[in-house]
Amino acid sequence: MAETVTNWAGNITYAAKEVHRPGSVEALRSLVAASARVRFLGSGHSFNRIAEPGSEGVLLSLAGLPPLIEVDTAARTVRVGGGVRYAELAAAVHRHGLALPNMASLPHISVAGSVATGTHGSGDANGPLSSAVREVELVTADGETVVLARGDARFGGAVVNLGALGAVTALTLDLEPAFEVEQHVFVDLPLAGLDHAAVAATAYSVSVFTDWRAPRFNHVWVKRRTDQPLPDFPWAAPATEAVHPVPGMPAVNCTQQSGVPGPWHERLPHFRAEFMPSSGAEIQSEYLLPRPHATDALHALDGIRDVIAPVLQICEIRTVAADEQWLSPSYGRDTVALHFTWIDNTAAVLPVVRRIEEVLEAFAPRPHWGKVFTVPSAALRERYPRLEDFRALAGSLDPAGKFRNAFVRDVLGGE
Ligand SMILES: Cc1cc2nc3c(=O)[nH]c(=O)nc-3n(C[C@H](O)[C@H](O)[C@H](O)COP(=O)(O)OP(=O)(O)OC[C@H]3O[C@@H](n4cnc5c(N)ncnc54)[C@H](O)[C@@H]3O)c2cc1C
Repeated sequence: MAETVTNWAGNITYAAKEVHRPGSVEALRSLVAASARVRFLGSGHSFNRIAEPGSEGVLLSLAGLPPLIEVDTAARTVRVGGGVRYAELAAAVHRHGLALPNMASLPHISVAGSVATGTHGSGDANGPLSSAVREVELVTADGETVVLARGDARFGGAVVNLGALGAVTALTLDLEPAFEVEQHVFVDLPLAGLDHAAVAATAYSVSVFTDWRAPRFNHVWVKRRTDQPLPDFPWAAPATEAVHPVPGMPAVNCTQQSGVPGPWHERLPHFRAEFMPSSGAEIQSEYLLPRPHATDALHALDGIRDVIAPVLQICEIRTVAADEQWLSPSYGRDTVALHFTWIDNTAAVLPVVRRIEEVLEAFAPRPHWGKVFTVPSAALRERYPRLEDFRALAGSLDPAGKFRNAFVRDVLGGE
């Protein structure tokens, strides 16, 4: 019997006939070539069955691949192995005086797994993490290596790939000179009169949090690059102590606040690499909408906050710049991302997820690929104008559908 593997949250147990952790790209290549059905696992932080190979399939964890991190200071790029996490990557890049443009809320996640699902941080001008990727090295269905680089007509499908093109054994990312960030927290921002665009524009990266227990936002995290102007924030009072996104959780798990400047990788994520991120006992959902709808969408959610609040730990509102990856939830549109950290109770949460999807339907939301959603696949397909191109790319690299699990088949439609 295969060993039992769960995702980070423990709400998913993967069905697999075999589980392997190849320690080299050569071993990975042989396993891929020899298997009829394969899915890959990064750090397992997704909340749905995206990584599931099914009971007839093989689950390949890429966490055991060599921890390749090759920084090219002259070119300002880094080549990173398929199992490396942002925590190790960011520390190595920083040692070279360089930086990634942005990070997600936590550094514990693998780079390849994160960009495969369109993972993002915040910032009006910051694209998702996938937008830093310039080259993808894949082991495809026959065990051969294919390199897709920016400029290749197929590159639009290469990075946000849902694990459907093959094993990503390395990625090359753009870097920039290292920078410092200060994190300022403001408390108790009323929804009434909110100008979301003005709030989001105050700094390099802004996150707004609410538990929807009242028509207000508990706090706003304003992450200012020290090489950019000090923000004016007239709408709410500065926090008098450090806070955790989830009310009642210890702020010691969080990156330093109170306006103390520090390196980019110790301020852009909310959570410190050496502590548990978020609350641990949770499920997450997230919907990405065209940014001009932000304030209307927040008022629509306020209209059902009596339904949302009982199963919610925290809701976070971020912005993401439009990007060009075909399956990116921010493809072609500047985006507002409405995130929900739920309690750890799928049966209680799912009806609320459906209700939120009904309320947001008018804004054509694209759900986060790594989180819980129930949007029907037909509706999803309408929201991705380049989906057919992705399907063709997956078909050309994986003609027999070796990497196509139920999740991917549902998204792509067809056979
Ligand atoms: C506490 C917490 C906080 C989070 N915060 C954020 C956030 O701030 N912003 C955000 O956008 N998301 C966030 N997420 C979601 C998370 O970033 C995504 O689920 C992401 O995909 C996690 O990366 P992973 O390596 O764990 O992916 P996995 O769950 O391991 O895999 C995701 C997909 O990538 C594929 N994959 C993984 N590695 C490879 C590889 N090497 N080659 C080919 N395919 C591969 C898998 O097959 C699967 O399809 C958060 C999740 C948690 C648990």
